[in-house]
Amino acid sequence: MKRTVLIIGGGPAGITAALRLNGRGYAVTLLEQRFELGGRLISSSESAESTDAIPPVVLGCHKATLSLLETLGTARQVRFSNRLRFEFLLPGGRLVPLRRPWLPGPLHAMLGLATFPGLPLRDRWRVLAFLERTWEGDPELPLDLGSRTANDWLTEFGQSKEARSHLWSPLARFLLGDDLTVVSAATFARMLSHCFLSARHHTGLAIPIGGIRSLLLTPASERLTQSGATLRLGISVNQIRFDAHRVTGIQLQSGSPLVADWYVAALPHRRLCSLLPESALTNYSYFEQLTRLTDSPAVTVHLWMGSTRPAPRLVLLAGRTYHWMVSRAFGESGRQGTIVSLVATGLSGWLDRPDQDLLKSALDDAGDCLPTAVGAKVADSRIVREPQAFLSLRPGTASLRPLPQSPFPNLFLAGDWTDTGLPATLESAILSGDRCAEAIVAADQ
Ligand SMILES: Cc1cc2nc3c(=O)[nH]c(=O)nc-3n(C[C@H](O)[C@H](O)[C@H](O)COP(=O)(O)OP(=O)(O)OC[C@H]3O[C@@H](n4cnc5c(N)ncnc54)[C@H](O)[C@@H]3O)c2cc1C
Repeated sequence: MKRTVLIIGGGPAGITAALRLNGRGYAVTLLEQRFELGGRLISSSESAESTDAIPPVVLGCHKATLSLLETLGTARQVRFSNRLRFEFLLPGGRLVPLRRPWLPGPLHAMLGLATFPGLPLRDRWRVLAFLERTWEGDPELPLDLGSRTANDWLTEFGQSKEARSHLWSPLARFLLGDDLTVVSAATFARMLSHCFLSARHHTGLAIPIGGIRSLLLTPASERLTQSGATLRLGISVNQIRFDAHRVTGIQLQSGSPLVADWYVAALPHRRLCSLLPESALTNYSYFEQLTRLTDSPAVTVHLWMGSTRPAPRLVLLAGRTYHWMVSRAFGESGRQGTIVSLVATGLSGWLDRPDQDLLKSALDDAGDCLPTAVGAKVADSRIVREPQAFLSLRPGTASLRPLPQSPFPNLFLAGDWTDTGLPATLESAILSGDRCAEAIVAADQ
């Protein structure tokens, strides 16, 4: 008889675990409190239709994402193009590209970063020395990187104020979701090694046209339904029940109980803590640690512009209101044009700013990133505010992120915030779903 799995949470982590376990012959039930899958990838409000919360950007180093899209048959929507590069909008309005020379990795990234046109020659030289040292590990990287901020480390290694604010800070905001003065130096070093100081294709960039629904959510939902998994949308879990040794079941908000052989909690960490009994939080350091994780906010503004259909662009903004901008063409049901999405991360004060302020700054920043769009008519706009968008990767956080196997043998955790070693983004969520499924299969043997 098929072994049963209950997965709580229909974000990308839960979806991935469901697809992988379903593919391994388990009878999967996925419970999601909202009426559609997608989690934080989708924003919904009572007053408006749900919309993509995040502009889709896939990097060549996003192996777990690419492998999942391959399984779903949508990988061909992701086209890496050499013409799409990181661009930087510097204070004063200058737009400069990060070059990606035709050299094997990591020489391509070292040369690209070291010839960054946004810095004076003296600083470029120091960038190269810093990268060489980090890559070669000679002398070895300091052992205390996990307890210091990236800003500290970069300053100690001769990175000037300009290099930090024009180059490293925009990259950290985009790849880690927070400021250099907040994120840990170890996380920053890992990101640098993973994305830049490795194979050339790791720095490849793609902006799929169709958005996150056609790329991931719709095909995943179809695949799960067709292959016999049960999707229960609009169902909220309000308790996970334990005896002394294992999970004995879950209780839905309606009061009904559900039981299975295996349980996966693919929830944001705060939400998970609220479903656990107090005794689990106090008796097990594995769970107690979760109460010490913190998140950082994000605000995204999407602008639908009717007229132009330019090539996709990704611009990282230095010293501006928003931290990165993605523009891509759209064409659906008679409407065609450009969607411009601007994202600001880590600024909690921003969550309370009035819509018109957020929109005005978005239009100013978009105008400087896309001079050809200045004056273009904005046909529609949408603002997404998320107080807990990303796990805050502060010094000390890495040691609090849990592995998938909990102290209870039939309970596993997934989520972008678990211990994947990656920043808490879509790639981390998908990798956590993969690892969670592997851990269940291994425990079942
Ligand atoms: C504004 C914004 C911008 C972002 N930008 C980017 C970006 O550019 N690139 C990137 O890679 N990532 C980005 N992210 C992060 C990305 O959205 C997350 O990394 C990803 O969604 C995490 O997936 P997850 O499955 O771990 O968690 P989630 O997506 O949070 O999914 C958890 C699911 O659990 C459900 N749930 C919660 N409680 C219950 C319950 N009691 N019962 C049943 N279901 C429950 C929730 O409804 C949700 O669907 C952004 C996020 C936001 C908000």
